[in-house]
Amino acid sequence: MKRTFFFFSLSALLLALISAPVSADWFEEIKKTATDEQLHQLLYEMPKGGDLHHHLTGSIFSEWWYELALASKNKGYRYYTKVKIDNCRKHGDAFFDQYLIHYQNVVEGKWKKLPACERAEYLPLDALDDSQLRAWHDALRLDKPHEGRNEFFDRHWQRLGDLARDPNILVGILLKNFESFSEEGLIYAEPQVNVAGLMQADTTPIHPSEAAAIVRESLKGKKFVETGMTWRFQMAILRFVPQAEEHLRWAYQFVSENEPWVAVNMVGREDNDKGYPARFLPTIRSLRHRYNDVRLSIHAGEVDEPNSHIRDTLLLGADRIGHGVNLITDPDMMRLMRHGPYMVEINLISNLLLEYVDDYSQHPFPEYLRTGIPVALSTDDRGMWDSTLTDEFFVAVREFNLSWAEIKQLSENSLKYAFVPAEIRKELLERYRKNIQRFERRLDRKGVQALDRTPSPKRGFICRQYELCAPPDVQNDSSI
Ligand SMILES: [Zn+2]
Repeated sequence: MKRTFFFFSLSALLLALISAPVSADWFEEIKKTATDEQLHQLLYEMPKGGDLHHHLTGSIFSEWWYELALASKNKGYRYYTKVKIDNCRKHGDAFFDQYLIHYQNVVEGKWKKLPACERAEYLPLDALDDSQLRAWHDALRLDKPHEGRNEFFDRHWQRLGDLARDPNILVGILLKNFESFSEEGLIYAEPQVNVAGLMQADTTPIHPSEAAAIVRESLKGKKFVETGMTWRFQMAILRFVPQAEEHLRWAYQFVSENEPWVAVNMVGREDNDKGYPARFLPTIRSLRHRYNDVRLSIHAGEVDEPNSHIRDTLLLGADRIGHGVNLITDPDMMRLMRHGPYMVEINLISNLLLEYVDDYSQHPFPEYLRTGIPVALSTDDRGMWDSTLTDEFFVAVREFNLSWAEIKQLSENSLKYAFVPAEIRKELLERYRKNIQRFERRLDRKGVQALDRTPSPKRGFICRQYELCAPPDVQNDSSI
């Protein structure tokens, strides 16, 4: 009898411990007392939901590009990069501006076809000296005060050049992307993955459906499975080009026929008026006659001026809005967006570096969050910002004093609005809730003492913006 009672009491105690609600103020306490390093550490170790808005080729750190470009040599791809300009073309020649971009990368087959003068402007990627290599890395990051929107839109992507057309590199960057997200505690990712325009080492084009098959096969590999991530892909088209409608029709068909692609997005600078959303209404309406399985998340409101891009984009059928920076200038639309059903994908670091806000006091994120407009944090092009999703949370907590409940709401939204079937969404949400409850209990009991001794990785953006890093001589990343 006594033993039974003891066993019962012990079980009750254990149950009480497991299900005991954690005190609501532990995070407020930590915010008051923790250093920035401890806060960053906490946010790094914190289980997260998903990243619903990132461009795969913009999500890759320069050292990953370099490593994968050299590794692709085994498959016959040898890369050259432009280390100097010798005035081989004259002002006024076609594509003169493009010619002037340093550190463009081309595959050997294309390099060989250049005139002798231009060939001499390039070096093999594996033959750069230290200062050239440093400049090559820097050229893929938006890390200088004088760099901004134009450098990003008009040079960074052009520089990547043929690196983004190599199927081996594509598979490699997908894996590194998922691995690093998993290390940050994410369980879901929805990258924009482009497989149009890939090529073999001899520059023969690879058909997109063939490229998709290569990607699908690779995703079954052990290393992908071991990341523990769930993923779906989006296909993005460039909105302002003359053939954008044709590309949109192609993207719908591609997504409909190719798992794990599930959605179409439209990208490209919105200050180029050629890509205004209403332009695509007739095309999308005709596509809706035919396709029943293509979701839409579309960039909108990533612009300085007030305009109707967000309302026009919802009329196109988008369930999620990328950025939505200028939503705040449209009061009627803001009222309609409160409490769903559409979500705004917030990219705090991107918006600052691309100059859509001069500083965070101008950012509308807290207004959306605290008036009940569904929002989630995402990374957009974190490879080029040299940052992480942890850093997005760090910025949000530091600049907008997020509560623990708000942090969890952001992560929950990043799963609730994922383009996955209902049963997978349920599983992901259950997994996230289990992970975060375990984390809360640990922190509630021991505070920051519960955190890991290994420091969280700190990359360029967070080092520069918040002086969060040790001096450069003891930094092992971002100093390349
Ligand atoms: Zn984007």
